This record gives sequence, structure tokens and C-alpha cells, in this order.
Amino acid sequence: MNILPRLIFLFSSIPMQFPQKWFRAINKEFTTFLWKEKRSRISLRKLSIPRKSGGLGVPDMYTYYLALNAQYPLTWAYKKDPCEIGSWSWLEQKVVLDTCKNISIASFWYKPKCDKRIQNPIIKFSCEIAQAIHKRLKINGLSLPSCPIWNNLLFTAGGQPLANDSWKNKNIRTLGQILHGAEIMPFQQLKTIFNLSDTHFFQYMQFKAILSSFQFTNINEYLDNQLQTAINSRNTVSKLYKLLSHGFFEYCGAIMEQWEKDLETNITEEEWETILRQSNYISKCVRYKLIQLKILFRSYITPQKMYKMNCSASDLCWHGCGMTGTLIHLLWQCPEVKNFWGKIKDALLVIIVVYITVIVLFPKL
Ligand SMILES: [Zn+2]
Repeated sequence: MNILPRLIFLFSSIPMQFPQKWFRAINKEFTTFLWKEKRSRISLRKLSIPRKSGGLGVPDMYTYYLALNAQYPLTWAYKKDPCEIGSWSWLEQKVVLDTCKNISIASFWYKPKCDKRIQNPIIKFSCEIAQAIHKRLKINGLSLPSCPIWNNLLFTAGGQPLANDSWKNKNIRTLGQILHGAEIMPFQQLKTIFNLSDTHFFQYMQFKAILSSFQFTNINEYLDNQLQTAINSRNTVSKLYKLLSHGFFEYCGAIMEQWEKDLETNITEEEWETILRQSNYISKCVRYKLIQLKILFRSYITPQKMYKMNCSASDLCWHGCGMTGTLIHLLWQCPEVKNFWGKIKDALLVIIVVYITVIVLFPKL
């Protein structure tokens, strides 16, 4: 498939915003190709779930667009020495400093709302990408422990960002250093850890007052570390794509509920993860994999579904047992199907001379 590199080349060569209309058109082309111009049975967003999470790993172009362009705002925040002289970030930092003094380019990742005075289209675009990533990962700058305290537009006093050299000299730089859970540490504790003097108490109270205006809901240290690792290692784009990809749990809540209802049991998150991981590796045969996928996503057209589409059709089981043709009935409950599995068991007894018990795993079955 050489279409993906061609599209990736487009995204990565020009830092500019692509309209959502364009992504919708591309997705439509993908769906038409995959389902041979027929109506799709499994939506593209479900097929784009990574293979390890139960999907088919069909590339999602919007996620690639985010992952490719996320490199720039993430470099501001996480790259070791982002402002190396001559680097792209160094140029951007200069543009910011020329317009708004005392604001670090790193803070734009945590508060991706570009100041009105900054007219640079590339910085503005990177801020828009950062906003989209925050929305996708359900984070904000305050939920990341690496959020810088100084020269950050999030924390201002008298309209100016905080810039306290005496605290900086004590090596206090990020929010994670001074928070305990979702609250700022007591002054005595900070005093001991960072060797502060009593003269720092005024700044402590000032900062505490600023922080009290925010609501800390979720401090996401894990994600913060993941983003930092991604930007400082090889295969940055592929790591970011994995982080930004939606999983089965986000898209398939209704399917999970229906399975639990049918099987009359609760399936834990760990059990789901095992099911999803195995669904793609259960067989090497593509046909069996497809069957597994269709069962997992409940995409088979059953008599019950046919009846919902067209009331003149019957919703009864095709085997003539007189019961409603639901998915679970057709797969297991129907007497004809049970009879079939009985014959398989007998055939195996003859061939491999082993008696196999047909196990009933769930109460309803
Ligand atoms: Zn039946």
C-alpha cells in the first residue's frame, strides 16, 4: 500500500491546517474501497482500532495528521535542550520573545491558546494541533506534572507570567515538583525538600492563591512520561500514533454491553484485553480471522436484524426451531447448532480417540 506514505508526505511537508471536510472525503474513499461500494457493516473508526486492541489497524488519516504535526509543540515542552541555537524551536522562541517578553515557548504546549499578538502562522498552527491533542487525550496543561511554573501564561500575576529567580535558583521549575496529589505541598515540606528560607513564604502564598483558582481533576503522570519518551526516542510518529489511536473501549461500549447481557456475566477489563489481543492472533487463516472479527463486532446479519431493517422479513431462526434469531441463538443456543457441535465431538472421538466435553461456560448457555 503506497497511498499512506503519499498522504503522510503531504501532512509532514507543509505545517498547515487541513479542513475536516478533507478527512471525511478520504475516509469515504477508504470505506468505498474496503466494502466494494456496498454499505459498510463495521464502521471505519472501529476498523482503525489497532490490531492488538481487536481492530484491523486500518490507518486513520486524522490521527496520522495529529501525530506528524504533534512533534513541533511536543518538542517545545519535552525535548532535551529544545532551544539549541539554530534549531527550529530556537527560531520560534525568538519570535515569541520579540512579541511577548517573559513567555517561554514551552508553555504553549500546556496552554495552547496563542497570544493575539503572535501572528506567526506556524506557531499558531502548532497551538491548534496541541489543542486537538489535548482534546483527544482528555488532558489539559495542568494535568501534566511537567507543566512549567515560570514564564507560563497559565500562571500570571498582574497580567504578567510569574518569573521568580530565587525559586528558579532552588531548582523549582515544574508543577509536579510542588504538588502532592492534587494540592500544593505545605510550605514546611517544600522548605525541607528545596532548602527554602522563610523569605520565600510570600511567593508561596501568592502561588497557592493562583493555584486555588484552578480545579485539579486528574494529574496524568503516566501520559506525561509517555509523551516525553515518544519525543525523545526514535519512531516518534509511530509512538505518537499509538498513543493517539482510539481503542476498543472508547468506540465499542455498546457492543461490550450487549455481549455481557447475552452471556449474563460481567467481563472485566483484563478479560476484554485478553479477548481483543487474541482475536487477531487466534488463527493465521484470513478467513477465520474475518469470522472472529465479525463475531466480535457482532456484524453478522441475523434474522432479528433483518426484521428491524424490513418488517416483512421474519425474525425467526433460519433452522426452523421457532425461536427468535438473535446472534447468540444462532451461534450457540439453537438446538440445531448444539446438534452440530455434538456431531463434531463424535467425529473427533473417532479420529483422535479423545473424549471432549462440550463446556458450558455461562449460565444462560
Ligand atoms: Zn434456532
